[in-house]
Amino acid sequence: MGDITIKINGINVTAPDGSTILEAARLAHIEIPTLCYLKEINEIGACRMCVVEVKGARTLVTACVYPINEGMEVWTSTPKVLESRKQTLELLLSNHKKECLSCVRSGNCELQQLCRELGVTDEHRYDGEMLESEIDTSAVHMIRDNSKCILCRRCVAVCEKVQGIGVIGANERGFKTYIGSAFNMGLGETSCVSCGQCIAVCPTGALREKDYIDDVLAAIADPDKYVCVQTAPSVRAALGEEFGYPMGTDVEGKMAAALRRMGFDKVFDTDFSADLTIMEEAHEFLDRVQNGGVLPMITSCSPGWIKYCEHYFPDMTEHLSTCKSPQQMFGAVLKTYYAEKMGIDPKKIVSVSIMPCTAKKFEIGRPDQSAAGVPDVDYAMTTRELARMIKRLGIRFNELPDEEFDDPLGESTGAGVIFGATGGVMEAALRTAVETLSGESLQNLEFNEVRGTKGIKEASYNVAGMDVKVAVASGLGNAKTLLEKIKSGEADYHFIEIMGCPGGCVNGGGQPQVSGMVRNTVDVQAVRAKVLYKNDEAKVIRKSHENPSIKKVYEEYFKEPGSHKAHEVLHTSYVKRSINN
Ligand code: SF4
Ligand code: SF4
Ligand code: SF4
Repeated sequence: MGDITIKINGINVTAPDGSTILEAARLAHIEIPTLCYLKEINEIGACRMCVVEVKGARTLVTACVYPINEGMEVWTSTPKVLESRKQTLELLLSNHKKECLSCVRSGNCELQQLCRELGVTDEHRYDGEMLESEIDTSAVHMIRDNSKCILCRRCVAVCEKVQGIGVIGANERGFKTYIGSAFNMGLGETSCVSCGQCIAVCPTGALREKDYIDDVLAAIADPDKYVCVQTAPSVRAALGEEFGYPMGTDVEGKMAAALRRMGFDKVFDTDFSADLTIMEEAHEFLDRVQNGGVLPMITSCSPGWIKYCEHYFPDMTEHLSTCKSPQQMFGAVLKTYYAEKMGIDPKKIVSVSIMPCTAKKFEIGRPDQSAAGVPDVDYAMTTRELARMIKRLGIRFNELPDEEFDDPLGESTGAGVIFGATGGVMEAALRTAVETLSGESLQNLEFNEVRGTKGIKEASYNVAGMDVKVAVASGLGNAKTLLEKIKSGEADYHFIEIMGCPGGCVNGGGQPQVSGMVRNTVDVQAVRAKVLYKNDEAKVIRKSHENPSIKKVYEEYFKEPGSHKAHEVLHTSYVKRSINN
């Protein structure tokens, strides 16, 4: 395909043949506003925010789907175009619950921002009948409030096309159209996997996570409670975005400082239990290889993936590693080993996690996740909730000094931190498995073949004379493709890493929301993942089995990976579900 030259606002612009007007305009540094458009996911030209004038066209055209052709002349901001966009916004607002003062998205709502930019005021030309809608709170992890929905269908597209699930869609027609599940079921009654990718792409406050800020603040204020917090690897790679730092800033030190100022009794790190996961998972993998266990073994760190496997591939649950996720392993160790060591009654411990993930809210309530007879984790909060909590408490995040995590459950290695990026768990496991099998020290710790944001990655490594075939998938649509290949016999592997969210946890459903305009132009997954790989490189210890605190936990408590005690505390089981829940 060659290039095509067109005129945009009187200026010559050359763009590849096949480009849309929107893409060509970006090459000329002109931003055409969009609402429904998400590159390669939702290209439906429905919201009509991106309308432009084209010479010879009788009506305004939608730039996100209109292809360019040689000699075309386009105007992106004539009075007619601006008036049309303003009218579109006013029509959307006429059926919108305008709660900007208290709305969770106020400040980063794409609708609000466009209204501001296009001069939409409080004088509404189209105030009329508003569609009544019930708030759906049936899911464990999220809330749908259709009174703030603008029918952009981004959530529908991401659930169906990216995650391959499709439990939401448009119901009814015309003015009565609303987004929801089939047969008016609440989301909690469907086989939704709680990934939160729909929340991540929603431009407004129509979708949000269930919020536990008040409960956690009440626990902190209770003198009888010992409140400990853990933070997942990828939270440090994105939290800064909520405080004005450029995407790709590591705020680990400030995050630890903020959590301490909030009043948590201990500020720990999920990276520690990521290392512990590797100890157990690498042992389980070697055990399956040496003793004829079920292969390929598939990682179990991602609760969205686990729920997906249970619903959509129940015949493959035997392939899942029995290891609890790092979040749950952390909670289990906190309320068993740590509680015993410190002489604290586990019932008095409140275990809080800060996660990039909404599926973690579902995971904490799963059966078989209470090693000490009480839940391993009491509250799973998202990165967004943490940011809101920091702001609510008046902590001046940007001015905080860097602080360290508390010991011993705060000590971690480079292997633990890369868990947040797709391929990271595989790389961390390989670092330990290769050294364990070969008995030699690895010279090169980077397994570049499993790095990067490609949806499916494959590699083969010679480990102590054995060819180990591995695969990595992120995003459940990619997981589905991979699993179908295995089932049909088209592919076979020994070890597979699957993460529910595209790109892994750095792009989890609980991470700071990024506007469509940024998503369409920046590789968010790659920028955030870079933070974790840099963090890994800077660590003195980069292999899980060399973490001194991990060695100590085994010496003092578990004895060895895969021991009876380790199984009681650190492993779990799965259920077979159906597509209809
Ligand atoms: S969704 Fe946006 S426009 Fe609507 S109330 Fe919330 S902040 Fe305001
Ligand atoms: S949480 Fe995930 S599975 Fe559930 S509706 Fe949203 S995108 Fe679909
Ligand atoms: S819930 Fe959000 S993403 Fe889904 S259609 Fe409504 S506004 Fe769009």
